[in-house]
Amino acid sequence: MNIKKNKSLKEFNTFGVDSTAEHFLKVTTDDELGESIKYIEKNRLKYFVLGGGSNILLGFDKYKGAVIHMQTKGVEIVDETPEYEILECAAGVNWDEFVEYTVERGLGGVENMSLIPGTMGASPIQNIGAYGQELKDTFESARVFLTEQKKIISLSKDECNFDYRDSIFKRELKGKSIIVSVSLKLKKIPKLNYSYKGIRELIFVNGDEKPTVKDMRDAVIKLRTQKLPDPTVIGNAGSFFKNPEISEESFGILKRFIPEIDGFKTKDELVKISAAKLIELSGWKGRREGNCGVYENHSLVLVNYGGATGSEIFNLAHRVIDDVYQKFGIKLTVEVNLLQ
Ligand SMILES: Cc1cc2nc3c(=O)[nH]c(=O)nc-3n(C[C@H](O)[C@H](O)[C@H](O)COP(=O)(O)OP(=O)(O)OC[C@H]3O[C@@H](n4cnc5c(N)ncnc54)[C@H](O)[C@@H]3O)c2cc1C
Repeated sequence: MNIKKNKSLKEFNTFGVDSTAEHFLKVTTDDELGESIKYIEKNRLKYFVLGGGSNILLGFDKYKGAVIHMQTKGVEIVDETPEYEILECAAGVNWDEFVEYTVERGLGGVENMSLIPGTMGASPIQNIGAYGQELKDTFESARVFLTEQKKIISLSKDECNFDYRDSIFKRELKGKSIIVSVSLKLKKIPKLNYSYKGIRELIFVNGDEKPTVKDMRDAVIKLRTQKLPDPTVIGNAGSFFKNPEISEESFGILKRFIPEIDGFKTKDELVKISAAKLIELSGWKGRREGNCGVYENHSLVLVNYGGATGSEIFNLAHRVIDDVYQKFGIKLTVEVNLLQ
């Protein structure tokens, strides 16, 4: 296990917030993970787990504890039939490199989630999703290190309680578990999902009636590159807020005020609405406050123009939340993990 003291975290979070960690533990094997927990206990440290840093907001200048940076690698086929392959991937595997690998092999199930930054180990935490696909659709199981019991267990899809940007890891197992590997079941005969209009427009542009997983990946990459800010150019963590899910009755009332707002029924008989639209109608789209602001092309995304602290970004988020609440009576919730 590699230990660094007072390490800058600026390059380890896509917001580009400049802060440091007193102890930075680089974990490249399962054994090193055990050693890092022993080190943390021996030195009575608080800690958090870091993957690619693309869904966190560092709310401190200096973290007086340990950061466990998951750098384990490797993808292995653990089961195979004529219909599918099950691939077990180490926590530190880069998500998009994995998607590229599966697409090159013609496997289906994760292609719509192309270009999502971050690591495999973080993917179940918020059940990542994009353009009609979610991690849970292909998720088979995860090997999880329970930090109190100090043992690795396997959790099935049902046990992970996946929901929209939610899972057991954000609830009961928060702060008590470290994902060691994730197994996904991918189809050898892919069933493509082009329910999203923007994707269809790109896919069928040449009258191509038989798109492949590679066509889907190319379309998603094109769409995302147009819409979302590149964190290497402008600091951000993707969508900062979740899309609210409200009752049908509330949706009916809202629709009277905002006739153009769309709603999508969820399996819980709720209606999911666009947080971006509410933020935009509250006058925040493209608004800058100091070193941070709401991105001009996508109002779900908060950006760091350079030099913003975690608390500046957090305060901005709260002003947006308060304004939306005052205007529409809907309380936005945050998707990004605030670390303190
Ligand atoms: C430009 C941009 C676009 C994005 N688009 C999308 C999108 O379309 N859909 C989507 O769902 N998300 C999106 N995201 C958010 C982000 O990419 C995902 O949430 C991703 O899964 C985070 O991975 P990470 O490795 O960077 O996690 P980190 O940011 O490092 O960590 C996120 C959380 O997971 C915990 N964690 C990380 N690894 C582990 C582990 N091995 N075990 C236990 N806990 C762990 C951390 O402690 C933290 O609480 C986007 C982000 C950006 C910057």
